[in-house]
Amino acid sequence: MTTGKVILVGAGPGDPGLITVKGLAWIRQADVLVYDRLIPMALLDESRPDCERIDAGKAQHDHKIPQPQLNALLVDKAREGKLVVRLKGGDPFVFGRGGEEALVLHAAGIPFEIVPGVTSAVAVPAYAGVPVTQRDMATAFTVFTGHENPDKPESAVDYAALAACARAGTLVLLMGVTYLDTIMRELLKHGIAPDLPALVIENGTLPNQRTVSGTVSTIAALAREAAIRPPALTVIGEVVRLRAQGVDWFGE
Ligand code: SAH
Repeated sequence: MTTGKVILVGAGPGDPGLITVKGLAWIRQADVLVYDRLIPMALLDESRPDCERIDAGKAQHDHKIPQPQLNALLVDKAREGKLVVRLKGGDPFVFGRGGEEALVLHAAGIPFEIVPGVTSAVAVPAYAGVPVTQRDMATAFTVFTGHENPDKPESAVDYAALAACARAGTLVLLMGVTYLDTIMRELLKHGIAPDLPALVIENGTLPNQRTVSGTVSTIAALAREAAIRPPALTVIGEVVRLRAQGVDWFGE
């Protein structure tokens, strides 16, 4: 039997229309579809009726399938000769563990392809009327993870460097709802401007999109009051002002 193949496909940030043409074509061909929690569920209807659909559902503290088992599953299905589509939220290589899965496939000698996706880091701000760069406002944008508790001594996030990045441009914080308070405190400690505009966006690109607007010093309390829940991201920088200046187009 010939070995199958694994395609790591980015499903986009939530709006099902934001899948790529190439990604959709692979979903329609798949023998096996292994999908994450944050993918637009409407995309599952695009797979063949006989396609095996496997929910890898990765809620934060409730990994339905632990990563090593998931890696083994991809390898096993491909060894059965199957065309496996591994569907991930946003882009597979932006905080999506796509790189880890690609390395496992390489080590197992399984052919694979990557189909990049529309990342939430850019698309979710766009649906909230925030361009991540703008001439005279931001010459860079920096995407970072808030998944780690900054109070942990072993936290790998360099807040001094991030506070410096905020002087050059925009910061986009993914997975940071739980620790928003401590993350903002760390940034302030390292000299970020306290009155820099900040916007939290929950369920971005979806009909139930919600935003909370404030500054670096106020945003954590405001998000807490509004009971913001994942998936949500926070965008920080002068570009946030453009939303109120007329770029907000999606409506909520
Ligand atoms: N690979 C994904 C990111 C995975 S990390 C990508 O490229 O988009 C998951 C984090 O992405 C969430 O915790 C949240 O911060 C952000 N996110 C994903 N979808 C989102 C959405 N629809 N609205 C707001 N944030 C979202």
